[in-house]
Amino acid sequence: MSYQEEADKFMPIHLHPVSRRSFLKQSLVAGAGLLASPMLFAASRKSDAHAWVMMTDPHIAADPTQLGRGMNMTDHLTQVCGEVLALEKAPAGVIVHGDCAFSTGKLDDYEQFLKLMRPLRENKLPIHLALGNHDHRERFYTAANLKASSAVPDKYVSVVKSERANFFILDSLNEIPSNPGLLGEKQLQWLAKNLDANKKKPAIVVVHHNEKRMIDSDKLIALMDERKHVKALFHGHIHRWRLDETPGGVHIVNLLPVGYPTATGGATGWVHATFAADGVRLEVRCTNQEDPLHRTVHQLSWRSA
Ligand SMILES: [Zn+2]
Repeated sequence: MSYQEEADKFMPIHLHPVSRRSFLKQSLVAGAGLLASPMLFAASRKSDAHAWVMMTDPHIAADPTQLGRGMNMTDHLTQVCGEVLALEKAPAGVIVHGDCAFSTGKLDDYEQFLKLMRPLRENKLPIHLALGNHDHRERFYTAANLKASSAVPDKYVSVVKSERANFFILDSLNEIPSNPGLLGEKQLQWLAKNLDANKKKPAIVVVHHNEKRMIDSDKLIALMDERKHVKALFHGHIHRWRLDETPGGVHIVNLLPVGYPTATGGATGWVHATFAADGVRLEVRCTNQEDPLHRTVHQLSWRSA
């Protein structure tokens, strides 16, 4: 099976690179998320096939003046996209860990989100998305002109392969906009099967909700812990930067939000993740460059197989 066929089978939510002239609706297609090859990048900028942009919780509203906890999310995402494009080397791709929309996943929120993300796509960066509790599957698909289909009924899951790690993108969206998240038996079975079929490279699990706020969190942790090639879980939802580990030594990376922090404060921004054979280097980039977290580097080593 080719990568294209595999991608079509899983039908993940992927936004392809576009040319500047192509019309938005025509240019958004599903699938081909496994084609995250450096060959895709413009010749003008050097690329790093091991570097990924990890971002979460942009919470974009149709109204660009909308604030969340006193912060302007549109300004934040615009700044973040600018910083990604200013990187000396183009990353392999961008992974958005959910809550793309402001609150209930309105169609025009997604139109604004897609507009803000478009410069990344025009610069040949593939974007892979997980949905959060403030998203709406069908409305996102309508806005992005994608066809709704997945290997798991009513959930959107995918595998994104890269040279040093495979990313397993899950769908924890349960009810909008309530907590907690839910993976469900079928998705957990899909994950186990696909992890077992891809044992040769480090496996990175990507999901919106944190490892404690899903109805079936315990099942996910057990499933990851017992498969030694699973090295890390990246998530959003909490709107606060934090590193932790499961009992079995799987790293948990709680990404800082793009949009706005928790009620008690904290940084906003994104993470430049560079994968090595035996771990990952995480550099935090804050929208407020005076924040003490800005430009801090966190080196995670993979547990042994
Ligand atoms: Zn959120």
